[in-house]
Amino acid sequence: MDSTILSSNRSRRLVLLPLPLQGHINPMLQLANILHSKGFSITILHTHFNAPNPTNYPHFSFLPISDASQEKHSVSDIGNVISFLHYLNNNYLNPIQHCLSKLMLEDEGVVCSLITDAQWFATQSIADELKIPRIVLRTSSISSFISFVAFPLLRDMGYFRHFSDEEMKSEALVVGLEPLKIKDLPKFVTSDPKAICELLDLMVQGTKQAQAIIWNTFKELEEINLLTLSHVFPKPHFLIGPFHKYSPTSLSSLLAQDQTSIPWLDKHPPNSVLYVSFGSLARVDETQFLEIAWGLANSKQPFLWVVRPGSIHGSEWLEQLPDGFLERIVEGRGYIVKWAPQQEVLAHPATGGFFTHNGWNSTLESICEGVPMICSPCFGDQPPNARYVSDVWKIGVQLENGLERSEIESAIKRVMVDREGMEMRDRSINLKTKAELCFKKDGSSYASLDDLVNYIQSF
Ligand code: UDP
Repeated sequence: MDSTILSSNRSRRLVLLPLPLQGHINPMLQLANILHSKGFSITILHTHFNAPNPTNYPHFSFLPISDASQEKHSVSDIGNVISFLHYLNNNYLNPIQHCLSKLMLEDEGVVCSLITDAQWFATQSIADELKIPRIVLRTSSISSFISFVAFPLLRDMGYFRHFSDEEMKSEALVVGLEPLKIKDLPKFVTSDPKAICELLDLMVQGTKQAQAIIWNTFKELEEINLLTLSHVFPKPHFLIGPFHKYSPTSLSSLLAQDQTSIPWLDKHPPNSVLYVSFGSLARVDETQFLEIAWGLANSKQPFLWVVRPGSIHGSEWLEQLPDGFLERIVEGRGYIVKWAPQQEVLAHPATGGFFTHNGWNSTLESICEGVPMICSPCFGDQPPNARYVSDVWKIGVQLENGLERSEIESAIKRVMVDREGMEMRDRSINLKTKAELCFKKDGSSYASLDDLVNYIQSF
């Protein structure tokens, strides 16, 4: 970029407000790096808990915000995420407004935009009050967001009238949202479906109020859904992903990534290892954990398995594993870590498949490395993401009946050994190539980023 434009942008400050959860911090900090490379000055507003490490970003300013009640938080599972999101939006508004007003008084440059995660749905009132344009970063796929938008309509059509387990397992297609099935509709672990509807509605309305939306996706992947969305949300949409191709996820990792994963992978032939990880929030019970363990063991394929401490109900870490699991039962074919350098693992030639919960970051990271998936979605946007992976992009298989050892074993063989898996890998490599082209000069994300920069400069 022209150096005069870079230095004139430097006098423009962007304030970014990430949601303090790993899957939201990563894309927001990556976006910050992208916009900094275009010359903007960056301030990150953040909560004290799950704070990013400022020493990894000496080129940004960091402003901590505290809530008046000083509550302690550890959101280690989705069960309390709904109340957590309400808590954030109810208790942090005044402190955020206070921080921003102070920054605007002190700062030599102009605060030209507030960029918030879509889950900070109540922050539009602050932007209105301080007369700063607010842009939303949506960290999910467009396809899953469309199902969130349709939620109230589906409810009115009677879809969630009882919200029974049986109803939620239905294979029937959702009219207007094909290929999604009823069982793919966003679900959260809560006994209060009304609370989900309210929360999604607040998030959708909060996104509607923003001036524009930035997406961590790329046009070639979600073009049809973008068209659909543009009818409902006629405002600027900037598809500038995949963000992690501009700056690594490791910089914003809240947990230490176990680097021994890489020399372990180095010992394996190309496409031979299955990488297994369910992200930063999903949890399993003891039975599910053992089904995964036996499915991996019986498949006879090498695997690198991330077992996050606390991710198995009732266990600290690996206490529930059968005695001698790694040495005797899988005979050295497996390696277990607490947290992996996921981006590097997926890019490693030895990695041939990804057994995933289909969080959007994980899904996109896998797509960008051409790695086919075994999908076991848990909640939120994961089931829609998984349906697109298996039924639309056809780069993975889905465990349709939950975590059960023989289905896991058969899915591993389908992806890692069978001809079907090779075809999935070919389609994955095709998408990887498209992802690589989109952020090169004249690519779709490259052009959209230019549009975003011009858009912000116009404020
Ligand atoms: N991740 C990681 N190491 C791991 C597992 C995950 O660095 O062992 C990163 C991963 O690369 C991704 C993020 O954590 O960027 C997880 O985000 P995602 O949206 O996939 O899932 P969530 O954690 O929000 O459920």
